[in-house]
Amino acid sequence: MPEKPEVVTVARKLEARILNRKILKCHVYCDAIVDGDTKKFIQEIENQTIHAITTRGKWIVIELEKDDLLVHLRMTGKFFYRKEKEPLEKHQHIVFLLDNQEELRFHDVRKFGRMKLIPKELIEKVPPFTELGLEPWDQNLTVDYLKEKFQKKSLPIKTTLLDQSIMTGIGNIYDDEILFASKINPLKKTNQLSRKEMKAIIENTRKILEKAIQEGGTTIRDYTSEEGVTGLFQNSLSVHTRVGKPCPNCKTIIQKITIAGRSTYYCPNCQKE
Ligand SMILES: [Zn+2]
Repeated sequence: MPEKPEVVTVARKLEARILNRKILKCHVYCDAIVDGDTKKFIQEIENQTIHAITTRGKWIVIELEKDDLLVHLRMTGKFFYRKEKEPLEKHQHIVFLLDNQEELRFHDVRKFGRMKLIPKELIEKVPPFTELGLEPWDQNLTVDYLKEKFQKKSLPIKTTLLDQSIMTGIGNIYDDEILFASKINPLKKTNQLSRKEMKAIIENTRKILEKAIQEGGTTIRDYTSEEGVTGLFQNSLSVHTRVGKPCPNCKTIIQKITIAGRSTYYCPNCQKE
């Protein structure tokens, strides 16, 4: 599943292609992807112009005139661009005809992707935004903020970093990388982290996500941010997916364990319990 760097990468690609374009027509071939009533979705979205493309957590936010279109790529969602006349291909479930005779097509093999159209005046008042914690670069993300959120949690820190209601945007890949860079064992109980460790988490989250965004995200398994677009951060991974390989710091062999159902990679020497 794409995490913040991949979502930002897709948003930037979209911006380059669809900013200031008007959506003339919308076709939905898979109702499950659209949240709420499909007819209403189509009716509302047609004839709106695209003013900006941003992100919030792992959501892409396509800012229109009256509404915001939120897109979650989940496992296999991606966007294709096609000329209006080009035939529809397999797995292209939602099509937006733009005012340059091009179509933006949402392609999703597993159909777990989601689109929500929310009026601008409600966007901060309804889910999903009301359920999201701070963005990694928010100035309010401080050691005191984490301390307050962490103090009641006895779950492993690995699991807590995936909790989007505290800090948004981190998934399984960057979670492992952030804990490695912070020299924290992934099984350590969240409420046992020191202030120094929380500070390291904040700093390393920003550093690692920024580097990953610069490299266009991480390409593993079947995820690509757009047809023909692949990130390069997989070459910079220190521990994630590197089971059996030497730690880049100390040459100890990287271990793989499962925490709350998620594959977790760490160095038993650098990240001692
Ligand atoms: Zn090590």
